[in-house]
Amino acid sequence: MSIVQEISCSHCGAPISFEPGEIIATCKYCGYTVVIETGKAFTFEHSMLQNKYDSTKIEESIQNWMRAGFLKPPDLAKKSKIMEKSLIYLPFWVMSVKAESDYKGIFERITPPIVKEGKIEKRYNWLVLARKATKFPTKEYDVPLTGKIPYDFREIEAFAKVLNSEIEKNEAVELAKQQVEEHHRFLVQQDVDRIFEMENEIKINQTVYLHAPVWFVKYEYKGKAYQLLIDGATGMVIKGDIPSTGFGIF
Ligand SMILES: [Zn+2]
Repeated sequence: MSIVQEISCSHCGAPISFEPGEIIATCKYCGYTVVIETGKAFTFEHSMLQNKYDSTKIEESIQNWMRAGFLKPPDLAKKSKIMEKSLIYLPFWVMSVKAESDYKGIFERITPPIVKEGKIEKRYNWLVLARKATKFPTKEYDVPLTGKIPYDFREIEAFAKVLNSEIEKNEAVELAKQQVEEHHRFLVQQDVDRIFEMENEIKINQTVYLHAPVWFVKYEYKGKAYQLLIDGATGMVIKGDIPSTGFGIF
């Protein structure tokens, strides 16, 4: 168990609890967001996405997911038991990124090999999860940013949990740059087999701190436990474990 610490909210006076490693915390009672180390108010844009599903309605999403797709056992929806459903507002840093990569390399799949040059220009809303230990498939999460509103503690359900940030803004910016670069390297490797030169220009125009609702679901099927992550704003399954059908060719 981790030790929970407290500071008092400079806006409403209520205790704000946080755990070791957390650096930005939000007051449960008034929504005030504080940088723990300095005790000062968080000054960047703090947004959220609204959860549109309650504990009953999310079951429909789970059932629909279980029924769809040929990779799943046909009796999955009927035989599964939902063991746990919890709504967690995960903290993200969302950056609007403009990235350009100029590259030169050699394409060896033909004879004779040819030297190729090219440029990749892309814009992204790049997502960095502001937690260190939590695993989350950010690449599979198509964050529905159009529904973004300013953070409002009254929108948070009493049964939901809001996680604080363990990553500060500059660290998130560095991580995003590294990840975009890696992604572009991957894209370049579709065009050339060996890269001679690659120059990246990555501009981050806007950074938003965002809390997004994710349902963490555990279900049991034939005695084994599986996990599902569902976007609370859209009801779409972000990622789900599928039991093996047991009659595959492997
Ligand atoms: Zn407060």
